Amino acid sequence: MKKKYKCILFDLDHTLWDYEANSREALSELYVLFNLKERGILIEERFLQAFYVINNELWDLYDRGLLHRDIIRNERFHRILLTLGVDDYPMSLKISDEYLQHSPKKKNLIHGCRETLEYLLPKYPMVIVTNGFDEIQSTKLSSSGIAPYFKSVVTSARAGHKKPAKEIFEFALHENNCSASEAIMIGDNLLTDIAGAKNALVDTVFFNPSKIEHQSNVDYEISSLPELMNFL
Ligand SMILES: [Mg+2]
Repeated sequence: MKKKYKCILFDLDHTLWDYEANSREALSELYVLFNLKERGILIEERFLQAFYVINNELWDLYDRGLLHRDIIRNERFHRILLTLGVDDYPMSLKISDEYLQHSPKKKNLIHGCRETLEYLLPKYPMVIVTNGFDEIQSTKLSSSGIAPYFKSVVTSARAGHKKPAKEIFEFALHENNCSASEAIMIGDNLLTDIAGAKNALVDTVFFNPSKIEHQSNVDYEISSLPELMNFL
């Protein structure tokens, strides 16, 4: 039997906002802007790949509470350049500034995002629950045009807790007058989104576009956003 939910919680990065496509666009521009070819990084794709590896490592540590956000800001591009044989800390800070300015303005959304939000909008209040940085996440929502779909945006900075802590989910529920049993969380990350929502006794939808294998206990699993329309 279909359960009746009263509120939908959505993760943003990699779930609605196409982080990979958007960072790829921004990084390609930075590769040219900073003459990285002349600096010895001969193949652009190597720069992009180094970003994905190091960025994922740093975000994973951040999500686990083992890293301060300033390390991502100040060290991410330094480490990327170092692995590619370029030792230039001042330039890495400039690249970081440019990246943080331009990447959130990119507009690519995950396939089917807009039509799915359009379908859900008249049926449920929707809330973003994200571990991203305040100003950056709001830029992403407004520049990609999906801000109007959401009743509120709960960032870890505003809630005072990061996913997977149950407190950030409780903060979002309280703010929207919704109980845990009436809510469902949709996200791509088994630790922050799925285990986090379970901590707060909220039902879960694991968005798993690459169909990775896992042992987590999820209420629903989808590989594309429009599948949400089958049960919500
Ligand atoms: Mg995510």
